[in-house]
Amino acid sequence: MKVASSIAELADLRDALDAPSPRPTVAFVPTMGALHDGHVSLIDLARSLADTVIVSIFVNPLQFGPGEDYARYPRPLEDDLEACRRHGVDVVLVPTVADLYPAGRQVSVNAGQLGTVFEGAARPGHLDGMLTVMLKLLNIVRPDIAILGQKDAQQLACIRRMVADLNVVVDVVAAPIVREFDGLALSSRNRYLTPPERTSALALSAAVRAAREQDTPEKAYLAAYDVVERAQSDPLFALGYLALVQPHTFVEVTDDHVGPALLVVAATVGTTRLIDNLELTFKGPELDD
Ligand code: AMP
Repeated sequence: MKVASSIAELADLRDALDAPSPRPTVAFVPTMGALHDGHVSLIDLARSLADTVIVSIFVNPLQFGPGEDYARYPRPLEDDLEACRRHGVDVVLVPTVADLYPAGRQVSVNAGQLGTVFEGAARPGHLDGMLTVMLKLLNIVRPDIAILGQKDAQQLACIRRMVADLNVVVDVVAAPIVREFDGLALSSRNRYLTPPERTSALALSAAVRAAREQDTPEKAYLAAYDVVERAQSDPLFALGYLALVQPHTFVEVTDDHVGPALLVVAATVGTTRLIDNLELTFKGPELDD
């Protein structure tokens, strides 16, 4: 008999029970489909990290609010399956809503404080719904690694928090944002944009780009703010928020903040809600000897 006196010890013992050894590893890429090069970069990263790649395609009704785009969200399943095939995916999970949410379901995940700010404030319940499906999918797929995009930074922070708080046995790996040639972050929702809206949408990536070279939180915020303020004169562009936050808590940083920070921005362009972000690191003042 063995006694595990820590979670880490139990994890090692539990792993040793899985035959054969070493067990093939599984990487999981959860998506809502309408796959673009951003999703594909996650799949390629999964392919490079694990023996088996599982992708899920599920437009999760729980993470859409009333009046959001659940019904019109693009669902080009054949194209998505072809992209998965081309990129060496081993298994694609395409569950139905009834399969994931049978009648009588009651228990769900609450994202806590992190689920109430920024995206959580703009889209009440969105991050709770996202975490609920994510936990279900992680339990169903049982991957070693889950690959998530930095594009949805608050979603990523919530998932990391859930994995830590609920002892979910998975390694979360973040993949960088993939952008169009002109900076626009790839999103399944970009296909809603008319040509003039697409031009307006460039203010989001221009804002984060403007912050990139700045060496203090205040300068970074103001450089980005300058861009979105000018964009506001465009009737197609409505700013949701612009903030400089701690990457894990989404608490806003102070002007004297040193270390990593995340510039997050959201806007509605025409009728389409878009987000973007940039990771920054502030060094703080040089100290004299
Ligand atoms: P979605 O289908 O929008 O739920 O996104 C599925 C996954 O792809 C999430 O982990 C996203 O963060 C990620 N993703 C979406 N757009 C991009 C992008 N432009 N670059 C990198 N990852 C992305």
